[in-house]
Amino acid sequence: MSQPDTTQSLHSRLYKEDGTPRSIGVIGQPINHSLSPSFQDVAFEYHNLPHRYQKWEVGTAELAAFIQKVREEGFLGLNLTVPHKQAVLALADIVSEEAAGAGSVNTLFYHEGQLAGHTTDVAGFMEALKAEDYDPQKQRTLVLGAGGAARAVVYALATAGATEIAVANRSFERSAELAEVMAAQFPQCNIYGTDLDPAAWPFNRNPRTLIVNATSQALTSPHEPFPVSAEALAGRNPERRTLFYDISYGNTPFLEMARAAEARTLDGLTMLVFQGAHSFELWTGLTAPRQQMLEAAQAALASK
Ligand code: NDP
Repeated sequence: MSQPDTTQSLHSRLYKEDGTPRSIGVIGQPINHSLSPSFQDVAFEYHNLPHRYQKWEVGTAELAAFIQKVREEGFLGLNLTVPHKQAVLALADIVSEEAAGAGSVNTLFYHEGQLAGHTTDVAGFMEALKAEDYDPQKQRTLVLGAGGAARAVVYALATAGATEIAVANRSFERSAELAEVMAAQFPQCNIYGTDLDPAAWPFNRNPRTLIVNATSQALTSPHEPFPVSAEALAGRNPERRTLFYDISYGNTPFLEMARAAEARTLDGLTMLVFQGAHSFELWTGLTAPRQQMLEAAQAALASK
């Protein structure tokens, strides 16, 4: 179901009956920092469409009313970010397999007349890994964090055939719970939950080829070093090309630490743009100009 609606003509998908462009944008709280308009507008301009991607500050108490507005006003679709990705699951008419599996929705779009919830975070994360030439199949991996983003990352890695996913989080109860839910969905993959103390990690001897930082440490403690060292994260006898992937972007403490250790790194800007590209394609049925979108996002980030 993660395909654009084919029952409507392109024109009626994009425009209301009076010929005005359907509304499109992102809701969240806070929302001002969002880079999404910078690269989504490039995609609409590329296809000579008049739509402009907007940002709406919407808190938890206003979510249901905003979704009602999306329905009544015939939006093109919607992106959702913190704190709405879980709550909106109950407000969509249908949800995709990925959204149900990852327990999160970041995109609403119309599918055969129904308001469909989907997460493009999974595809965005995987596409960024592929562009980096990393294939999780049969790999041992470590995911840091146990929030909504970590859950989408674990879902993506397990779906892509990782052999082992260790989930390490500051609050052990959350990583244990996430690992339990995911292990039940993916019995063929070893999924463990633990805390952030490497001395206690049961899997410490296993070399890992991918470390994903899905914590919000760069937002909550931007001036503190990352709480675990690069050496401890990579495990004993690490593969020489262990990839340190931070799904946050900019100069994060995690990336600074990994770069200082001369590790291979990837930041989250590509994932952000690729998840947006998938959303654009679901709303419009048109191909997103990924390279132009990425360049626009890089320029917007550099000017911040
Ligand atoms: P949540 O609030 O749901 O989870 C935050 C996680 O970070 C929790 O596991 C929390 O641990 C951990 N954490 C927070 N501060 C610290 C700290 N100082 N030290 C160690 N751990 C910490 O957030 P999300 O899962 O929604 O998002 C996580 C990050 O991923 C955000 O920075 C977000 O911007 C980014 N993201 C990027 C995307 C992209 O496209 N590039 C897409 C989605 C998210 P605890 O449980 O102990 O509180």
